[in-house]
Amino acid sequence: MSLMDIPALELSNKIKSKEVKVVEAVRECLDSINADKDRYNCFISVDEESAIEQANYLQEQLDNGSATGDLFGVPIAVKDNICVKGMRATCGSKMLKDFYPCYSATAVTKLKNAGIIVVGKTNMDEFAMGSTSENSYFGPVRNPWNLDCVAGGSSGGSGAAVAAREVPLALGSDTGGSVRQPAAFCGVVGIKPTYGAVSRYGLISYASSFDQIGTMAKTVADAGTLLAVISGYDEKDSTSRDASIVCKDIFVEELRGVKIGVPVDLLSYCRDKEIIDNFYDKVNDLRSRGAMVEEFSLGMTEYCLPAYYIIASAEASSNLERYDGVKYGYREASYENLHDMYKKTRTEGFGREVKRRIMLGTFVLSEGYYDAYYMKALKAKAMIKDNFNRAFEKYQAILTPVTPSVAYPLNSYEDRPVDMYQEDIFTVWANLAGIPSMSVPSGLNKEGMPMGIQIMSAPFREQDMLKVGYAIEKATPILTPFVRGGAGNE
Ligand code: GLN
Repeated sequence: MSLMDIPALELSNKIKSKEVKVVEAVRECLDSINADKDRYNCFISVDEESAIEQANYLQEQLDNGSATGDLFGVPIAVKDNICVKGMRATCGSKMLKDFYPCYSATAVTKLKNAGIIVVGKTNMDEFAMGSTSENSYFGPVRNPWNLDCVAGGSSGGSGAAVAAREVPLALGSDTGGSVRQPAAFCGVVGIKPTYGAVSRYGLISYASSFDQIGTMAKTVADAGTLLAVISGYDEKDSTSRDASIVCKDIFVEELRGVKIGVPVDLLSYCRDKEIIDNFYDKVNDLRSRGAMVEEFSLGMTEYCLPAYYIIASAEASSNLERYDGVKYGYREASYENLHDMYKKTRTEGFGREVKRRIMLGTFVLSEGYYDAYYMKALKAKAMIKDNFNRAFEKYQAILTPVTPSVAYPLNSYEDRPVDMYQEDIFTVWANLAGIPSMSVPSGLNKEGMPMGIQIMSAPFREQDMLKVGYAIEKATPILTPFVRGGAGNE
């Protein structure tokens, strides 16, 4: 058994009790990453030297008796749209293929202060636009459960790296499901916190009113504890809030008195019988642990995807204006004049999906269409938020499957972008409403592919969601796609 197979909290305890050296954990992590190098394509860059250097520094701290933190000494992978000083941040794009940020994201600084070691940056859909991690300039990520299938996206590299036991922890970003969906496809836990719970400073913007950094891990306790490390107010992000997330004492198996809502109108969008059966199995298990489960209608189900894709594209078109070949990033080598340089740089530097979103976003914001599309989408967003507020007066948690299908073969949605957008039917809600949401593995289907359950709770009530997530985890063994050196799951 590798040190990468055990939960992060346990690994940290082994380190703090001096059973394992920090550098041993980091070495095993780097060895796993190297062993899988050509298999899953999880990483865009790995910085062995700085990881080992930091491990030695932390070991010194530990030996001097000044080590603290629940996750002290644990290695982590960071999605490549989150800035780590000294490491390349490509965002999965040719546009930023040589971009080295001169500062770290606040979330990354907090990792460092907690003694968590960044070993590398993970592959992703370009600028976090996509649901498969195929839209990457660095090639697609493959699913550790089946190499012919996608890992989900856009944080596919982070999800696959945790599933393949390359790292115990990872950071992703979630604008419309990009932490939760790859978590479900890869059989790991993924958390998207309340909007404002984690600073966005140093997260390369996609759609600023939805973007949140989220956590991925093998267990609910690991992912929740990591969220507690990175959350909190930051003066560098005026949308961040001081609502610290406390994970202590919520990991109990009893759910007596907890009220759970199941939105039946939304569930009708899932046509995969195995996913629905698995979902109700888990819901029944929660009932047997004392939870009160009630079905209800959320409403607005036909508006959520259009509203999300209109607002996200509108914000993206404005956020991506900065990549013009002048300030930083890629610049086309030959051009005739300034305008021609902009045009060639953006034509060559961005991939197809990003250009599609920029065009859609520019269109919905243009005169004559603004009221018809963008304003209407904002109104739908406000109504969706109201509906959730009303629902949370009754329920502490709302449950759905994470995805309407399990991970599908690579290239399934080539040239069918709108069909791919439909796959986000369950996840975009939490971003539209700004509420916390998590994905917890709920078992394997007949083909041996992971399924997941989504738990949403009221703003800054992450504790409620984690409690239910922990109970689901207790009813589902931790999923492992293979035992290193062999096949099959544990
Ligand atoms: N699949 C969604 C999109 O392409 C969500 C992506 C995300 O959360 N970053 O916009």
